[in-house]
Amino acid sequence: MRGLLLSPALAIRIEGHVRSELPREACGLMIGQTGNGLLVVDRVMPSANLAPVECLDRFEIDSALHLREQAAARESGQEILGIYHSHPNGLPEPSDRDLDGAWIPDFVWLILAPGADQTTRWGAFFRGKTATFEPLEIFAKEPKT
Ligand SMILES: [Zn+2]
Repeated sequence: MRGLLLSPALAIRIEGHVRSELPREACGLMIGQTGNGLLVVDRVMPSANLAPVECLDRFEIDSALHLREQAAARESGQEILGIYHSHPNGLPEPSDRDLDGAWIPDFVWLILAPGADQTTRWGAFFRGKTATFEPLEIFAKEPKT
């Protein structure tokens, strides 16, 4: 995979959701298509975080939402490319728990680390056929080939 293509408008939407959920983790789905080795995000769908409220370092995507969005994406020739979630005051990279929970093949994990200073660090990773994360570059627009 060459990278994740995420427009500035969608990036702002994701970051807004992540900041609105602080101090908890936020999570959501990224829907789009794959072409030329690029994962192109067309839209994002925030999910409620269904992890217990007192757990500040956990997220759980609403599985009913996931199934609904999967069906809707298929109808329109798209797919769920992956998920985003946040590590408040943490690192923009997968935790051990993330690796344990990454069982869906060919799936993107976008991780935001919102800091107290209003800056947010981003990391994108691709979980291919095996249970490992490969770093993915994030592009704001189509890179030149
Ligand atoms: Zn995580």
